[in-house]
Amino acid sequence: MTHWTVTTLRIGELYLQHGGAIVRDPVHVWLVRGGVAGKAVNLLVDSGMADIPTVHQRLKVKGWGGGHAALTAALGQEGLGPQDIDYVVCTHLHFDHADNLDLFPEACVVVQRAELMAAVDPVPSQRIFYWKSTLRNLIERKRPAQLRLVEGDTDLLPGIRLLSVPSHTEGMQVVVVTTEKGRVALVSDLGDHYRYWYPADPRATDHPLRSLSDAFLTGNIRSESERVWQAAMRRVLDNADIVVPAHDFRIPLRMPEQWFAIPDSTDGDLAHVPPADDEN
Ligand SMILES: [Zn+2]
Repeated sequence: MTHWTVTTLRIGELYLQHGGAIVRDPVHVWLVRGGVAGKAVNLLVDSGMADIPTVHQRLKVKGWGGGHAALTAALGQEGLGPQDIDYVVCTHLHFDHADNLDLFPEACVVVQRAELMAAVDPVPSQRIFYWKSTLRNLIERKRPAQLRLVEGDTDLLPGIRLLSVPSHTEGMQVVVVTTEKGRVALVSDLGDHYRYWYPADPRATDHPLRSLSDAFLTGNIRSESERVWQAAMRRVLDNADIVVPAHDFRIPLRMPEQWFAIPDSTDGDLAHVPPADDEN
């Protein structure tokens, strides 16, 4: 059995307007390293957002980082370049998860067929989140080795399983990685903070919601009903040992070394981070 390691790469932040305040959303991609049949294999889960000037121009959202420079620098800190990535698995095709694909012309991009359709013909509320740059990058991948469209749950490689979980988007997928401690679910925006997964747990949220014991919080940006979304989150927990939400500051940077199921405290959750100095 192949055991993989997962490294979180923080490539930037988005400063989202929330009432009168700014909520900081870190933007991550995950480097998954292991081997198959004696050969080293590197996967990237998501490819992150465009550079902040571009994001600001299109969405009027500020922040820092993003783009080829931030992603290349983050890979460089792990001793890798874009050419060393064998697979890029897109959890979904929103702008903060699936830009920069042109950095990896030789890698195989893996995405649910339903998500590509969603990007071509989005539900109306999500049109602004699917960018033409992502679509263009995908359509230019004509060789089979450059693009793999999957349908439903898929065993991509030994120890790398894709769970199809329509919820946030129509073709959302969660990547479950087997490490030596257990199975890590890179859940992306199926529940992008711990409080969505553990709404009644005081370690996950300042405002435990006992009424939601044994259930989940679901997000506002959604393509499916709450019932479908709840079932998707339950299925992920049933098929994994820990979850790693996409936009929580508290997620472990190195797994399995910094393995945890729920953080020890809410310190570092978005709500606790003061508005950043506005330098951008
Ligand atoms: Zn996101």
